[in-house]
Amino acid sequence: MKNAIFLILISLFLQQCAHKKVDLTKPQQTKTMEDNTHANNPYYSRTDKTKLNVSNAEWKKILPAEVYAIAREANTEYPFTGKYNDFDEVGEYFCAVCGNHLFRSSSKFASTCGWPSFFEADKDGVIYKRDSSHGMERIEVLCKRCESHLGHVFNDGPPPTGTRYCMNSASLDFQRDKK
Ligand code: FE
Repeated sequence: MKNAIFLILISLFLQQCAHKKVDLTKPQQTKTMEDNTHANNPYYSRTDKTKLNVSNAEWKKILPAEVYAIAREANTEYPFTGKYNDFDEVGEYFCAVCGNHLFRSSSKFASTCGWPSFFEADKDGVIYKRDSSHGMERIEVLCKRCESHLGHVFNDGPPPTGTRYCMNSASLDFQRDKK
């Protein structure tokens, strides 16, 4: 009986935290915390909410390889490696692909999962899609403007929402509040 409970707990943990891994030759540490180097990305805007319809062939020319692999091909960074996993600066999170606003730092919480986690998203920032890949039933979270993959959402988050947005750091940009 104890073994059965243990197996159920392990399987639940794996369902929530298991991701397809991508071997990135250049991990996210090569980027700065406030990465505003989008000079070669004509679609990047923090104010324009117009929906984008850009092909992956085009994004591949524009985005850094690790951002492309995760945001456009729905890969997942290794747990505990992303630049925003252990990070508690005060400010705003944007889509690393298009600049759309996604999260406020006040909704970020310390999750043990290994990826930056939030209990609430900008309602105008994200959309949801059923994801049945890898033998799991999950809800994928995508950027509402460019439909890039951000991560998944689960119902085991903290109050006040009980929701956990489990995100990839590579899909996020951060802007610290001005003092
Ligand atoms: Fe986006």
